[in-house]
Amino acid sequence: MAIESLRVLCTAMDTAAIDTWRRIEFGRLPGRRFDEASVTDNLLFTLQNQVPGLLTYQSNQVQERNSGADWEWWIGDDQAGWVCLRIQAKRVYEDNTYRMLKHPGAGEDAFQYDTLLKGCDPDQARYAFHVFYNGWPEGTFEEGTYWAPPAQWNACPGLSSYKDCKHAEPRHYGCAIISSYDVKKLSDGDIVGPTAARFRVQKYLSAALPWSYAFGFPPWDPKREEQRWHPRLNRGDWVDRIHGTLDVLTRRGGARGARDASGHLGEIPVDRDQRTFELPPYIEAMRRSTPGRFEPASEDEAPAAPQTVIVERKPKRTRKR
Ligand SMILES: [Zn+2]
Repeated sequence: MAIESLRVLCTAMDTAAIDTWRRIEFGRLPGRRFDEASVTDNLLFTLQNQVPGLLTYQSNQVQERNSGADWEWWIGDDQAGWVCLRIQAKRVYEDNTYRMLKHPGAGEDAFQYDTLLKGCDPDQARYAFHVFYNGWPEGTFEEGTYWAPPAQWNACPGLSSYKDCKHAEPRHYGCAIISSYDVKKLSDGDIVGPTAARFRVQKYLSAALPWSYAFGFPPWDPKREEQRWHPRLNRGDWVDRIHGTLDVLTRRGGARGARDASGHLGEIPVDRDQRTFELPPYIEAMRRSTPGRFEPASEDEAPAAPQTVIVERKPKRTRKR
């Protein structure tokens, strides 16, 4: 099975981000608790239910416990090749920090983000990202808004502020994506500072975007009725477009670079040969089985993360002669 429409995925991701915001905001009330792992499970379950053709697998039998990844996306098809994202999720705490970024790494690695980065390689179209789970009451940082000034608002391709932007609203940052290179740079840069300053949310939000943007930046001018994913694009080479976007986010200007290049993300030069053409055994095994709980048949088939999502391009219809 293969995904029908990227637009459906982006819409579902936006809805899930706002749900996550509500859950975390609610979790701040006295007597409430917030469970990070259950949010991840819930998010991916929601996407699986709402997006036709999306394949999601959960496994307790993870081979590289040390990959530092909470979930993995594999995006592409056998002809175009596959692009991989490894994601580490971190929630916001009541002191408005992502303080668990201090989590130590595996073996010699100083931090968990070092371990995550080590397992990825942009030259092989394998990218490391963090997704921050955010949520706080309106007015927490500034009267009348959910946004957290002075964090920079990168979600507007038209360069409007968070107050005027019609492309996204602050709660779309309920699931905010940021290159793990930027996470490392921002965290290591303040390494001697107190935790409250080192991991404060505004610093990271300035380099982050709503997570759906990684799969499709909104068009510059929505009034011209441009769609986020033109129907033609869903049949065309969207693997190139996503690959290009991830590459810009990772090493060609980050969130700001992607915002500024949003009009031509489809034409970012990418090296298709760098993608994966021979999938790891666990992905092949998953593609042969039904989405849901995945039991590896051998050590070889143990996945790299507890959750795996496969976004496979629908095959182009070939005309019969
Ligand atoms: Zn806007």
